[in-house]
Amino acid sequence: MKRLIFLTGFAGTGKTTVGRLVAERLHWDFLDTDEMVVLRAGKSIPTIFRGEGEEAFRALERAVLADAAGSEDTVVSCGGGAVVDPANRELMQQGLVVCLEARPETVLARLRPAMEALSDEERPLLAGPDPLERIRSLKAERQPVYAAADWTVHTDPLSPEDAANEVVRAWAQLGAPAIWASEADVAAVVRSEMGPYPVLVGWGLLSGLGDRLRQVGLARSAWLVTDEHVGGLYAKQALASIRAAGLEGDALVLPPGEPTKSFESLSRIYAWLAAHHAERGDAVIALGGGVVGDLAGTVAATYVRGMPFVQVPTSLLAMVDASIGGKVAVNLPEGKNLVGAFFPPRLVLADVATLATLPPRACTEGWAEVVKHGFILDLDYLDTLEEQADLLKALAPEPTVAAIARSVAIKAAVVSRDEHETSGLRSLLNYGHTVGHALEAVTGYQTLLHGEAVAIGMVGAARISHRMGLLSSDDLARHDAIIARFGLPTRCPPVAMPALHAAMRLDKKVQGGSQRWVLLERLGLATLHDDVPAEAVDSVIAELMRAV
Ligand code: NAD
Repeated sequence: MKRLIFLTGFAGTGKTTVGRLVAERLHWDFLDTDEMVVLRAGKSIPTIFRGEGEEAFRALERAVLADAAGSEDTVVSCGGGAVVDPANRELMQQGLVVCLEARPETVLARLRPAMEALSDEERPLLAGPDPLERIRSLKAERQPVYAAADWTVHTDPLSPEDAANEVVRAWAQLGAPAIWASEADVAAVVRSEMGPYPVLVGWGLLSGLGDRLRQVGLARSAWLVTDEHVGGLYAKQALASIRAAGLEGDALVLPPGEPTKSFESLSRIYAWLAAHHAERGDAVIALGGGVVGDLAGTVAATYVRGMPFVQVPTSLLAMVDASIGGKVAVNLPEGKNLVGAFFPPRLVLADVATLATLPPRACTEGWAEVVKHGFILDLDYLDTLEEQADLLKALAPEPTVAAIARSVAIKAAVVSRDEHETSGLRSLLNYGHTVGHALEAVTGYQTLLHGEAVAIGMVGAARISHRMGLLSSDDLARHDAIIARFGLPTRCPPVAMPALHAAMRLDKKVQGGSQRWVLLERLGLATLHDDVPAEAVDSVIAELMRAV
């Protein structure tokens, strides 16, 4: 299948309006076969019908549809009768065919205001004494071919925006996975309201960045944001690849570390983009860890009201967590990640070879998020991680690529089903984070790295799960052994309990006054709980501190 969507359906179902919106969402081009016919013939459709007859119009329609089918990254709105011709239907097989449906009464109501001023000749559908009956019978005649579409959207109760969302959803479910499934290195295709995006995981992918940008339809300039550590190592290679693919591009290198996720950095990047006359169709590329990803993503979400965004994560944490799911944010003095957006990237490209230069402690903390995916959702994966721990810690290419790809697939599946964290599924990814975030906060973000704090938080959550009669003693012992095996801490540094409680209350997982915990029923199965007694939390933390 090509990256093409053909919108079919009767007149008045919204093909042109919805098609334009879909193209905008997916950052694709838009074509309308009726408009193409008019342009090619140099006269209006009624004039063609009058002068040369319907056959001549259909021949022109076939020709422009063949042209449209030759493009990529395009939404094509097809004339209402185009699907009747089997040759046209065959052309449409190259892409996804989505039929927009509407009841005859809706069609009439939508067509009438726009056509009131026209003569009967110019509006054959509404001519005659009973236009509703005319619409009904013509529509019924064509119904079998409309029904053969890959997907149908019933537009009667929908606004054009909602109908466009449905078409994007159809593309996410049927079109994009079919395209990317046949590609090597695709670990997952994430479904998002703003369009699906592939996550590529492989060894040495950075040199192909430019070609991959083209493949996702980004053929203009690419503005690369990175930090001093990563930029010094990889910006040259990334830019060379971008330029070799015929795109213009430049890099902005910022200081490394969490303080860079600030308003000051945003201003600096905005000024840089403005100085380069960056435009809406240009891409913002984050080359680095989660700090660069969150910062560049916030820029992409806001500059000129949104630019295509590409994540090139270079830390393990960013590969398996931060780059997937579309959350981007910067910090305020009042708290972390307070200003941001859900802004999914167009592409995530993870070159696992870049982990070779990641400082060992930063690499180790990334394994916390990896084993978390096994703990909460995938026991098989946990078995593999346990068996291959030594190879993974040594970053042996094949198993490391496979493990990261599997983690990516787990996170992608979760965020695809619960993008905005509304159903509770995405909340499962917060396993270990209730205590983890609080520990990071009370130690002033200085003592523990995020993954280390999460590791301790997972040890705490597993003990609470055990106390509540969920997790068995054997599973508890195995859980902690896996965390330790990856070189992660399992004990808590001394902290003041009241401060820890206050920090937990401030955490975003408090809902309606009660703390929401992610606990394990068993290894590989996490569930949400609002009923954890405060004493259980206190004694588990005290236990973890005592055991230092
Ligand atoms: P980071 O971006 O600060 O990277 C860690 C350090 O490693 C930095 O000094 C960086 O320069 C360096 N580095 C990265 N890749 C390297 C490489 N290949 N070679 C050499 N050095 C390299 O931190 P992080 O751990 O990647 O990410 C943490 C950030 O991610 C936090 O700000 C956190 O809030 C955010 N985060 C976001 C999400 C999300 O969903 N958006 C999820 C989790 C974490």
